[in-house]
Amino acid sequence: MTDPISFASTEITGLIAGDAEEWDRTAALPLDLLRKLGADGRLCGQVPATYGGWGLDSAANGAYTAHVGSLCSSVRSVMTSQGMAAWTVERFGTPEQRSDFLPLLTGGELAAVGFSERGAGSDLAAMSTRVRRDGDTVVLDGHKVWVTAAHYADLLVLFGMFEDDGDSEGQEEGAVAVVVPASTRGVRIDRVPDPLGCRAAGHADITLDDVRVPLTHVLGGAALPLPLLVTTALAYGRMSVAWGSVGILRGCLTAAARHATVREQFGVPLGEHQLVARHLAELLVAEQTATRVCEHASRCWDEGSPDQVMATVLAKHISAGNAARGAATAVQVLASAGARDSHLVARAYRDAKLMEIIEGSNEICQLMLARHVLGSAA
Ligand code: FAD
Repeated sequence: MTDPISFASTEITGLIAGDAEEWDRTAALPLDLLRKLGADGRLCGQVPATYGGWGLDSAANGAYTAHVGSLCSSVRSVMTSQGMAAWTVERFGTPEQRSDFLPLLTGGELAAVGFSERGAGSDLAAMSTRVRRDGDTVVLDGHKVWVTAAHYADLLVLFGMFEDDGDSEGQEEGAVAVVVPASTRGVRIDRVPDPLGCRAAGHADITLDDVRVPLTHVLGGAALPLPLLVTTALAYGRMSVAWGSVGILRGCLTAAARHATVREQFGVPLGEHQLVARHLAELLVAEQTATRVCEHASRCWDEGSPDQVMATVLAKHISAGNAARGAATAVQVLASAGARDSHLVARAYRDAKLMEIIEGSNEICQLMLARHVLGSAA
C-alpha cells in the first residue's frame, strides 16, 4: 500500500512546486489553492479524523510539513497558522467548541493566530488587547501585529487579557483566547508591506474596535493562566516551524549539490574544490542534525513525554539556526546563480532568517533552555 504521506507529498508537489517563485514575487498565494488544501484537511494534518482531519501523529505531520517547507515557505507558514489555530481549539475548546470550529478548519476555512502587539513581542505579558464580558457576548478592543495568514483568514484566534467587569459573579482576570470571524464588525486587517521573507504568507496587522462575538467563542472559558495558554499554542507553532526549517535545508542542499555537480570552474566541477565540498558537508550536517532533533521532539509529542516542551524548543532553535546558516551557505555555493531575489536559495535565505525570529526568537529559546538547565541543577 502507498504510504499516505508519500502520496500526499507527491500530490502537493504537483500543486505548488513550479509556482513558489511567482507567489514570492507577487506576494500572493492563490486563495482557491489554499481553500482546496484546507478543504482536504491538508493545512492542519494533526486534527483527528472525527473532525474531518487526517489524524496524523506529530512525526508524520512533521515529515509532511518539511516537504511543504522545501517547496514553499509561504504555504508552509499558512499551514503553521492553521495548525496552531486548530491545536488551540483542540487543547482549550470544550467538546462543543471542538465540534463547532474544527470541521471548519478541515473544511476549507482559513485561520490565523494573533498574539503579538506593537508593545508585546517577546514579552507577551505586556499584551494590551482587552476582552470583556457583556451579557452573553465578549467585546475585544486592541490590536495585533504581523499575524501570518491574517490576510487570507476567515477565522482569527486572538489572544488578550480578560477584564473582569466587576458585575458578574465568578469572573477573574487572566488570559483568554477567542475565535473571531474575520468579517465581524470592528475588525480591520491591514497587510504588512514588503516582508523580508515568506512574502506570500499574508502577514497582516489587525485592529479590533469594539468587536463583539458570542461568549461561546471564548475557548475554554475566560481567565486562563497566560503562560499555559501561550506555551500550549506556541508549542505547535514551534514544532511546525522546526520541521519547516528542515524543509528549507533540504531544498538548499539539493540546489547546492546540483549546482556543484554541473558548474565547472578551473576545469572541474565546483564540488571537486575542497572548500566548496566543505560547504556541502556543512549543509548535510545542518540538515541531518535538524532532522534528528525534530524527530526526537515529535517522538516526545507522540509518546506524551514530559520532555515535550523542552525538546520542542530545542528542535525549533537548532532547526531555525541551521536553516539560516545553511541557506547562507547555499547562496555562497551558487554565488551569482543564486543571487537573484527569486531563486530558491535566495528565497530560502530570506525565509530562513525569519524562522530565527518567530515562535520564540533565538534569544528567547536560549533563555528557555538555560532556565531548564538551571532548573535541573537546582
Ligand atoms: P522584540 O521582542 O522587540 O525583540 C527584539 C530582539 O530582542 C530580538 O532579537 C529578541 O530575541 C531580543 N530580546 C527580547 N527580549 C529579550 C530578552 N529578555 N533577552 C534577550 N533577548 C531578548 N505574531 C503573531 O502573533 N502571530 C503570527 O502569526 C506571527 N507571525 C509572524 C511572522 C513573521 C514573519 C514575523 C517576522 C513575525 C511574526 N509574528 C507573529 C510576530 C513575532 O511573534 C514577533 O516578531 C516575535 O515574537 C519577536 O517580537 P518582536 O519582533 O517584537 O521583537
